[in-house]
Amino acid sequence: MIRIAVIGGGPAGFMAAVSAAEASNNIEIEIFDKAEPFKTILYTGGGRCNITNATFDHKKLASNYPRGEKFLYSAFSRFAARETIDWFNSHGIELYTQDDCRIFPKSNDANTIREMFLNKARELGIKIRSHSSILKIEQRQDKFYIYVGKNPIIFDKVVISTGGNYRKVEGSGYEFTKNMGHNITELKPALTAFVTKEKWPSNLAGVTIQDVEISAVFKGKVVAKDRGDLLFTHKGVSGPSIFKISSYCAFLDYSESEPLILNFNFVPDKKSEDFEKELLKVFDENSKKNLVNILSDYVPRSLISMLLDINLITQDKKPSQITKEERKKIIKLLTALALSVKTPAPEGEMVTAGGINLDEVNPKTMESKIVKNLYFCGEVLNIDGFTGGFNLQAAWSTGYIAGINISTG
Ligand SMILES: Cc1cc2nc3c(=O)[nH]c(=O)nc-3n(C[C@H](O)[C@H](O)[C@H](O)COP(=O)(O)OP(=O)(O)OC[C@H]3O[C@@H](n4cnc5c(N)ncnc54)[C@H](O)[C@@H]3O)c2cc1C
Repeated sequence: MIRIAVIGGGPAGFMAAVSAAEASNNIEIEIFDKAEPFKTILYTGGGRCNITNATFDHKKLASNYPRGEKFLYSAFSRFAARETIDWFNSHGIELYTQDDCRIFPKSNDANTIREMFLNKARELGIKIRSHSSILKIEQRQDKFYIYVGKNPIIFDKVVISTGGNYRKVEGSGYEFTKNMGHNITELKPALTAFVTKEKWPSNLAGVTIQDVEISAVFKGKVVAKDRGDLLFTHKGVSGPSIFKISSYCAFLDYSESEPLILNFNFVPDKKSEDFEKELLKVFDENSKKNLVNILSDYVPRSLISMLLDINLITQDKKPSQITKEERKKIIKLLTALALSVKTPAPEGEMVTAGGINLDEVNPKTMESKIVKNLYFCGEVLNIDGFTGGFNLQAAWSTGYIAGINISTG
């Protein structure tokens, strides 16, 4: 019997263990987790678990990973969104696809995914050791000595699937891997909300604005762009587009003194000159209406009302009373409102950008190129995707590839 240790019982580790056990009868698998196994899944997709995304072209799917795109080509050519759907269906999980392509279990409950994996693992004879934090891994000859306490447990092969954590390297998969000769890239939070220097967003906390064009500028250069819904929070801004921009900007050292500037266009598809012409016409046709009522057709009243106040423009002015200077200011507020981001929202990241250096891992097998019989999968690798089911997809794909290779290799 080949003895395999899976360190980290999250989505990637369980997928590796179950796939390996389903592929071979000649292996014994133990999953070690420092906490309750498979707990992380319960918080995904707001408790509904956004399993994957209905993007069936491999290259298009891979383009949703700011880190790991090319590395994933090989895994996706074998096990991508279509295979993931089939895999879950064949393990008794029915799925459905939302209009925005996000795929969820029909139960709308992440716990069904957890239960399925835990039951399957038990059925396959996989030993699950919860509350077993791995402190150290040593390699002697062709065996791995895994330390939970003082006495080592000996294995032939090891999968490291300890997930991401940019705050704590000590006692993490990064640390064991480093000790075995691998390099870990710089680690940063990604898929975060932003904290702005301006305090006024807190007055709008909870207000969502649909379909906003956002461009991010750092040191005078446009560094990211996206279009989607914007959410104001107590400390700044959030929402799917902000998460995406935070991923693109994960490694920029913006700060209070050198902020990342976000410019918002609330009338996308319209340039400021065209919008000015349109506004002049609207003013003409609505000469008896108050300014705030007219502009509420473009953005929520709470936002425009606040922006007019901050810019000292009287809200109940009639169009004929608006000066040219005020009109120019209004155009700017609606087509290029700027906010200065000083930090990502603390504790709010969904993934870690950075991880085990991908040059040192075989993308076809997930085996280390440095240490034979050592495998990796999931977020511990230098792979992170946007929101939409892409991070779990990377965990399923790399977990599956590691699993079938560890069982045969
Ligand atoms: C709030 C939130 C919502 C999310 N929603 C989604 C979503 O809907 N869709 C999506 O695609 N992605 C989502 N993500 C991202 C997704 O959850 C992760 O990318 C995914 O869980 C990574 O899987 P993993 O198995 O690699 O790592 P993890 O899920 O982090 O699992 C790693 C496991 O390793 C264990 N571990 C760590 N160190 C040790 C050690 N030394 N010894 C033993 N065990 C150890 C941990 O306890 C953990 O159980 C979300 C993330 C967050 C934070």
